[in-house]
Amino acid sequence: MSVSVIICAAGKGTRAGFSNNKILALYEGIPVIERTISAFLLPEITQLIVAYNKEDEAEMLALKKKYPIELVEGGAVRTQTVYNALQAATGEIVLVHDGARPFVSTREILDCIACVRAHDSAICAVPVVNTQAQVIGEEIVAVPSRAECYDVLTPQGFYTKALLKCYEKALRGQKSYTDDGSVYAEFCGKPHIFVGSRANRKLTYAEDFQPHPHRAGFGVDTHAFGKEQNFITLCGVQVPSESGLIAHSDGDVAVHALMDALLSAAGKKDIGHYFPDTDEKWRGANSMSMLAEVLRILKEDGLSPASVSVAIQAEKPRLAKYIAAMQQSLSTALSLSSDKIGISAGTNEKLGYVGEGKGITVYAYVLLKQTQ
Ligand code: MG
Repeated sequence: MSVSVIICAAGKGTRAGFSNNKILALYEGIPVIERTISAFLLPEITQLIVAYNKEDEAEMLALKKKYPIELVEGGAVRTQTVYNALQAATGEIVLVHDGARPFVSTREILDCIACVRAHDSAICAVPVVNTQAQVIGEEIVAVPSRAECYDVLTPQGFYTKALLKCYEKALRGQKSYTDDGSVYAEFCGKPHIFVGSRANRKLTYAEDFQPHPHRAGFGVDTHAFGKEQNFITLCGVQVPSESGLIAHSDGDVAVHALMDALLSAAGKKDIGHYFPDTDEKWRGANSMSMLAEVLRILKEDGLSPASVSVAIQAEKPRLAKYIAAMQQSLSTALSLSSDKIGISAGTNEKLGYVGEGKGITVYAYVLLKQTQ
């Protein structure tokens, strides 16, 4: 079954406050419209129509040289734009998509087509997070059940002939419509939804175009064996050992490397600055409580760990049995799901101080995300 796609790019994107159409703006170095077009370059799509604004003609003609698209000039309002493009659509099915939603996934596109086949219409939607209220003036007049509310996204799919008929009727009226589902609902029937992804967001305001940069940090720590103790502590987990690690604190060499990586990623001074070994406060301290303090320092800057990787070098004791417990311990401490925490352990092939069993070295690498 042939499928046409209409990418609506005829707006001006005035809310982003750019001098030209926001869909021509760069997101991580690539124009938004190119990202959106690329998402639809799939074998299932037979025709790709971009409905554009006359003011952007030069850029659109350049795009046409680069991608297998057809250009249709949009109208003054969205209804006219989609109608113009529908007249050029040759597919039995048509998907209409906002040019400013470049993160649409292949799964959403294929689900949209499948939903049209099964139910005649397909509206990409995600359950709302917040309670919704209908407001008239400054008063709430209705609060619909949150369980029944969805955010409506695109793509939205229909049989082309059916949608064209709806649009012919819609154009005769004066009413304006913000999406195709509303047009279909008014003139044809109840549109069917399929659940999309929250990642399929619309770039509307200037700040939406700022990617969330991850900040990387690296940390290393080494401690020597020699403390009279029958265990060592790694990532908050006690591991039986013929000797303990010498340290001012509890000697959790893995957590120390991790703390340095976290502080480094945030552009802070190292753990020696925050937890000096001249300070009696930290004598024998539980490194997990020091880690909590590091997380608090990061939180002041709106930062938190996004992923963590810890590599332990130890000739002894054998650590394989304890890795899962370490991962769980860090997961709890960092409020991070365990699939974002990697821990590996290896020997040093009897080479150097690690190989001779004199001490343990741990390397840690982290990515931070900006949460505020
Ligand atoms: Mg240390």
